Amino acid sequence: MQHLERYMAAVGAEYAGPYGRPWREGKKPYSQSSLDSAAACLKGFYRFQGTQGIHQELAAMSDRSRLPTKADRRRMFLGHVAQEVPANPLRPTRRVRRRHPKMLADGARETLIGGLQWARNRMIMTWLGDGGFRVGELCGLHLVDLHLREGADCGECTSPHVHICHREFNPNRSRAKIKEPWAVEGGVVTGGQIRRASPAMIHTYFEYLTMEYPASATHGMLLVQLKGHRRGEPLSPAGVRQMMGRAGRRLGLGRTNPHGLRHEFATAVLDATNGNMVIARDAGGWASAKTVEETYGHTDLHSPVFMAALDQVWGES
Ligand SMILES: [Zn+2]
Repeated sequence: MQHLERYMAAVGAEYAGPYGRPWREGKKPYSQSSLDSAAACLKGFYRFQGTQGIHQELAAMSDRSRLPTKADRRRMFLGHVAQEVPANPLRPTRRVRRRHPKMLADGARETLIGGLQWARNRMIMTWLGDGGFRVGELCGLHLVDLHLREGADCGECTSPHVHICHREFNPNRSRAKIKEPWAVEGGVVTGGQIRRASPAMIHTYFEYLTMEYPASATHGMLLVQLKGHRRGEPLSPAGVRQMMGRAGRRLGLGRTNPHGLRHEFATAVLDATNGNMVIARDAGGWASAKTVEETYGHTDLHSPVFMAALDQVWGES
């Protein structure tokens, strides 16, 4: 059993043992789900060997059971509640929890914002999370698209907002997915898709602009590279993804990508509006309320509201 535990650690993601790095013939360490599968395979293999009279002690050790957790009980609430559930001692404990597989780890946004050195990166997190931008939309923003004060000259929205404008030829090759018509009239951008800006978005924007935005930049795009020989050039969506992926790994948050923040934004809007698809559609710029429903409109089957509703239907309350 000790050898098996060592094996699991050696192929695992976060092992700092005598090998120094995970042992996998020069490949990446196993992810959490691969480790789960590996543990299940090992358990199955040694249990089978046990039935053939081989390593019976080991088979017995890997065939443990445990008391059901709260989560197990919830999962089983339609069936009978078992007294014991099978357990696998080789299965690694889950460190990263997510509300939904598409979303970031719980609390990831706060951890990221607290753990990022550059004001630009803190701004990216805040804008993705509060504005629900697609990464292409964020990277495609020009400074003229931002109307971050009350009563902007465009006259299209009284509170702070940005205009998402589709441009075919941005220097960083980012393109907004939406194609609403837009124009520049007397130096003021009008049209496009309007997204409201939160106070935190404005705060992080000014921090970035005053501390890090290069005065020499002539392209007029919002996000720029801060290091290396391409310093000052526009930042691409791939650059944002890389930055988030690296930060996620460094801070132990597992898979971390820009779209996860858009999912969180959608879910938060739905939560706050009792699942109002039309509000969610407008807040996040989805093409239709149907898209929102299909992608994000899954009810949490274990939420108190849903449980209470079922209790009522069943005459339990
Ligand atoms: Zn405007």
